[in-house]
This record gives sequence, C-alpha cells and structure tokens, in this order.
Amino acid sequence: MIAVAIDGPAGAGKSTIAQQAAKELGFIYVDTGAIYRAAALACIESRTSIEDVAAVEALLPELDIRIVFLNNEQHILLNGKDVSEAIRTENVSMAASRVSAIPAVRKFLLKLQRDFAQNSDVIMDGRDIGTVVLPNAQVKIFLTASPEIRAKRRVLQLEEKGEPADFDKILYDIVQRDFNDTNRKTAPLKAAENAIIVDTSEMTLTEAVRTVVDIIKEQGL
Ligand code: C5P
Repeated sequence: MIAVAIDGPAGAGKSTIAQQAAKELGFIYVDTGAIYRAAALACIESRTSIEDVAAVEALLPELDIRIVFLNNEQHILLNGKDVSEAIRTENVSMAASRVSAIPAVRKFLLKLQRDFAQNSDVIMDGRDIGTVVLPNAQVKIFLTASPEIRAKRRVLQLEEKGEPADFDKILYDIVQRDFNDTNRKTAPLKAAENAIIVDTSEMTLTEAVRTVVDIIKEQGL
C-alpha cells in the first residue's frame, strides 16, 4: 500500500489540496482533523469540560467515531450521526485544538487512523501523520503558509458562504491554534525529518495541487 502523509498548520490548504491530489491519483483521502473535531464536538454536546482531563478520558469509551465515504466524499459519523457539517464551526476548531493535546485522546484515535492505511492507498492529512501515525509513509509533505495568508483565505471562504468574517479574530485564532499544536507535549505539529516543505503562500490552489502531485509522482508511485 502507498501512504502519503501531509502535515502542516491550520488553514495551509491541506484538506483542499490533499483531496484534489488524491482524486487525481486515485487514492483515498483521509482528513484526520475531522476525527479530532468529532471528539471535540462530543465533549461540547455532552457538556464535558475539556480542562477536565479525567472527564474527557471517561467519555472516550463511549465514542463511536467513523469515517465513511459517500460518492467519494468523506463523511464523519459520531455515534451514528453525520456530523460532517457540525464539526466545521470556529468553536469546534478551537475545542479540537485543546482536546487533541490530551495524550489519551491521541492514543484512542491512533488506531482508527492507522486502519485506513492498512487497506488502501491513502493521502492522509493532519499534524503528526509523518511523525507518529504513518512514520513509514513513502512520501511526507509539510504544507505551510504565512498566518496572514491563511487568515485571508479563511475570510474569503466564509464570505463565499455568506457568513460573517472578522480578519483580526480569525488571525488571532490561527496563531493561537498554531501555538497549541506546536507546543503540546504529545505529537506536536512539526515537519518529519524527511518531509518536503511546501510553502503555499505565493501559490494558487491549482499550483499547490500540481506541486503535491508532482512530488508524489517523482517518487515513482
Ligand atoms: O486539520 P483541522 O484544522 O481540521 O484539525 C483540527 C485540530 O485537530 C487541529 O488544530 C489539531 O489540534 C488537531 N489535529 C491533531 N492531529 C491531527 C489532526 C488534527 O492534533 N493529525
């Protein structure tokens, strides 16, 4: 099986780029952030405080998080309910960043992620795919962009959906999430030693997808 690990900070365009590259190459695309978001949503819905690590740990055995593919699109099910839309709020983003710092949560979600790479060629994106989840991935890419560019892209995305977008608040949240993800003790966000760094700040989406597909093809995969 072929595994491509794509890591990088929030808003670098990982999901969109990985999804399009996977389609072009005929691989399955797995968005691991969605799994952490589902765990965060479960905490919010059950009114479990994320600061209360013991309470979050107690919640884990009750969590049934699944990824299913409908028309080639990833859907995430939390205890049987499709939460693909519900996990995309800013509130859930921030909660996911906090819940993902809890070692027991990371351990619980590890097997779920590894199982995908057992049976299919995958492009998997996240924060620790090349370093922890799939350390033997044949290709490792670290996708990044400046915080300002990432915030600008997020504003455009929200405006396209007709939703309110406050640049300063979004930039603040991105910097905060980068800090949380980079400084946590367990599986912090960092490029794997043999990862190829791709900075998308000056690239269009098409250029970024091309760059990623070319890197994968260059490995003869
Ligand atoms: O990628 P996305 O922004 O959806 O991820 C939400 C949060 O989940 C991130 O801020 C990060 O804290 C966490 N995450 C992680 N490890 C991964 C994927 C996501 O810690 N492999």
